[in-house]
Amino acid sequence: MIRLIYLLICTLIVSVTCLGDLDKETTQLTSNISTTSDTSTCRNLFPEAKEIPAREYFLNLKNASREVSENPIYWYISPNGSVARNGPEAYWYWKVFLKDASTSYPKKFQTIQIDDSRIQWSDYQEYSQAVCDAVSGSGTRRQAQILHGKLLNFKNDWSGHASKWESFPYIETGASIIEAPSPLGLEHYTKYITGGGVIIVGGKEVLDEAFLAAREYVIYMTSAKPEFRNILMANEVRISLFGADNASILPEYKDESEPGGFAMGMTDVSMTANANWLCWPDHWDTGGNPVIHEMVHTINHIVFEELNETYFYERIYNIAINSIKNGTFVTSFTQNLSEGQEQDISHFVGEFWAMTVEGYIMDKPGFKDSHDTRKWIAENDPDLFELITKYFPTEPWEYCKGVDAFYLGDGKYDIPRN
Ligand SMILES: [Zn+2]
Repeated sequence: MIRLIYLLICTLIVSVTCLGDLDKETTQLTSNISTTSDTSTCRNLFPEAKEIPAREYFLNLKNASREVSENPIYWYISPNGSVARNGPEAYWYWKVFLKDASTSYPKKFQTIQIDDSRIQWSDYQEYSQAVCDAVSGSGTRRQAQILHGKLLNFKNDWSGHASKWESFPYIETGASIIEAPSPLGLEHYTKYITGGGVIIVGGKEVLDEAFLAAREYVIYMTSAKPEFRNILMANEVRISLFGADNASILPEYKDESEPGGFAMGMTDVSMTANANWLCWPDHWDTGGNPVIHEMVHTINHIVFEELNETYFYERIYNIAINSIKNGTFVTSFTQNLSEGQEQDISHFVGEFWAMTVEGYIMDKPGFKDSHDTRKWIAENDPDLFELITKYFPTEPWEYCKGVDAFYLGDGKYDIPRN
């Protein structure tokens, strides 16, 4: 569960006719985001853009993209060189796309080889139209970033890249589980519910109680910031619940052996969480909660990156390092890391925010080794408390509602049976 999306790796085909002098091409629309087929759209939006040789165009775009992915301004780099990444990458990519589309476009080509990838004209059309659609408001920046990855083979070499799967529609369900409107290839998902701007899906092995619990967590976590819900919904945030030993039961993640869950980054198709690790009446589960934990990471990747939330980026790692060095944050946990990676302080820094907010939200003594209650966080890590309460609710909330248990200390509970 405790794995950053960065460690993990770290659909759309849209109708495109971006440049006025290009042949009109109709492609299948598989997104639920409307796109325009007006051939003059991009020209009208960016009349100053100049045609340049295709190779030059793509090398420029690729180099600018690499600069974003390697921008260390908000990273933590440990003494042995291991990195905890952070920063508004999605916002920076958007600035690259906007500069790209507003200043230049490539001379028409069929296919062109750049480094080890063969670039297709149709992929360029899809990408550039997505940028124009995001500017005009008929599409999202996320779509542009997904199609940019597909165009350049940029960070898209894993099965969960959103260019490889169609989107679920967002249907308001209230607290009712409905039959999943699963796109082609995602028939595994039979159950569906929404809440707080987030789609929650799972297969038949996931109990209804897990869906209702997950929905309740998301609604509570986003209750202080309704605008977050709009951003989560616009960016098609989805939780894939699984009721198995690991995430490989899910069609998008057949090669992943993650037992708890992992977060969703801006170009990912969903986040995952083990439904058997959630808590509801008659299913008392002490310890970490993968929906809450991975949703904290996901809000960081989707909401903070889109908002360019520099207030957060400028503070969180300094708070984490202080808390780790003075022993406030207990670092006895073990991460499920990718092969060849060894746990060091960069992993504690990278996990600090999600683990402590998870403890804050649950507010159950003994469920975490430190930062397990709001009172404890306020007293022992006041700067962190200030940062958490800037984004997450302060209203009381009862996690594991209906579970009647008494805390005995040392992470142990007494659960009276009826
Ligand atoms: Zn984590």
